[in-house]
Amino acid sequence: MPPELVEVHVKSVLNRVCGMGFAWSVNPYRGCVHGCPFCYARRTHWFLDEDGVRGWSTRIFVKVNAPQVLRSELARPSWKRELVAVGTATDPYQPAEARYRITRGILEVLVEFRTPASLVTRSPLVLRDLDILQDLARRAGLTVCISLVTLDPELARQIEPNVALPRHRLRTVQQLSEAGVRTGVLLAPVLPGLTDSAENLDAVIRAAADSGAHFVAHNVLHLGEVTRDAFWRFLEARYPQLLPTYRDLYPRRYAPSSYRRQIALRVAQSRNRARFRAGTVLQPPPAPRQLALL
Ligand code: SF4
Repeated sequence: MPPELVEVHVKSVLNRVCGMGFAWSVNPYRGCVHGCPFCYARRTHWFLDEDGVRGWSTRIFVKVNAPQVLRSELARPSWKRELVAVGTATDPYQPAEARYRITRGILEVLVEFRTPASLVTRSPLVLRDLDILQDLARRAGLTVCISLVTLDPELARQIEPNVALPRHRLRTVQQLSEAGVRTGVLLAPVLPGLTDSAENLDAVIRAAADSGAHFVAHNVLHLGEVTRDAFWRFLEARYPQLLPTYRDLYPRRYAPSSYRRQIALRVAQSRNRARFRAGTVLQPPPAPRQLALL
């Protein structure tokens, strides 16, 4: 069944962000039809009394006036052209974007105000806007992150049910990179028992290098409220044998620091084996850590 698209007019769209490495974010939609069970942004539905488990991917709020509102916000004399992160709590290139073109409108405003940006997506639809992405990259600076946690198409279908398959995302990385857009692979979230093996991390990082990615960033699963419910349902249905592992690792919302260090080490070793060696690795953009960003 297609999702319900609810058009809304917002009063503001530029969100102040604290402690994230970037100061501002913009989200053209609330909800995401991609429906990843691990999505940390589900709580943004819940904040507004929507169902963050089932409704997150079936009831999408479309901020139809976001570009116009952003223009008025960036026109303020106080605007200092700090970096704006696009799509921290939704996928800005989910299918609704093909019809509404709100993300494109936001990018045009960022160009107009010479404002640098970073953008995170799992969708090859981002290539539709290659012209404006190149323009923004030239005039203000831009980093695009393509999220990818596995090369296995069957696993990808389970954990990212409505997302383009890994090979299409790698092709997207290649095309963006060849077009001169600084492009990284965001290996997030790393899922214990599913995508955290050294072999899987190595394969993704090697494929990222082969596709011309400028960097790889990673992040480990965070199970905050709402996401915990959605992810637990997913595990019960698909991977009940992993429930004890997750109960051990996630008595609280963050995995223990020992586990996170272990993953960071594996990623660093894989980076070294690929072409992402010290001295050639570009600084990753602020990876959207698993916090609520409206
Ligand atoms: S694509 Fe991103 S925003 Fe959409 S459901 Fe998946 S993790 Fe959430």
